[in-house]
Amino acid sequence: MLELYSKAKLPTIFGQFEIYVFSDDENLENAVLVRGDVNSKENVPVRIHSECLTGDVMGSKRCDCRDQLLKSLEFLGKQDFGMLIYLRQEGRGIGLLDKIRAYSLQDQGYDTVEANLMLGLPADKRDYTFAVEVIKYFGIKSIRLMTNNPLKMDFLKKYNIRITDRIPIISEPTPYDEFYLNTKKMRLGHQI
Ligand SMILES: [Zn+2]
Repeated sequence: MLELYSKAKLPTIFGQFEIYVFSDDENLENAVLVRGDVNSKENVPVRIHSECLTGDVMGSKRCDCRDQLLKSLEFLGKQDFGMLIYLRQEGRGIGLLDKIRAYSLQDQGYDTVEANLMLGLPADKRDYTFAVEVIKYFGIKSIRLMTNNPLKMDFLKKYNIRITDRIPIISEPTPYDEFYLNTKKMRLGHQI
């Protein structure tokens, strides 16, 4: 059960937001960035972003996380209302240590899915329960999900979140992440 811990104004380079932090059962430090008034609204643009330290913060070119994050914030900053739910589940849920171990295997030529499996980890361990609870917390009636990931859409639908639209996030592949993006497309079904 989600309980609001605190909230505050958060002016950003993309515009004015409010940041909400919740205390939940697992006590993860997830954050929710809210633009405008989303309460009980229809068609709320929502980005559910999983933390990527190397990409989001360090600007790694091994993935397109930072690009997706910035494009989402830029988009939300232009809307009357919307939200970004930032989930602290690094490396598609396997954590930073195992993500770097998987990178090391990828340096030897394995793809992102093979590397995870070689480490005895699932290809995608992410969980979006917190996001479902946030959407319900605000009484949001329907969302426009900003994603390329059909698994994320399936997950939300399973928990009775109404998705009226998918907003694709188009990122330009670089020589470093082209293989990674292709793997996501071919093996994880991403619509890139
Ligand atoms: Zn990343």
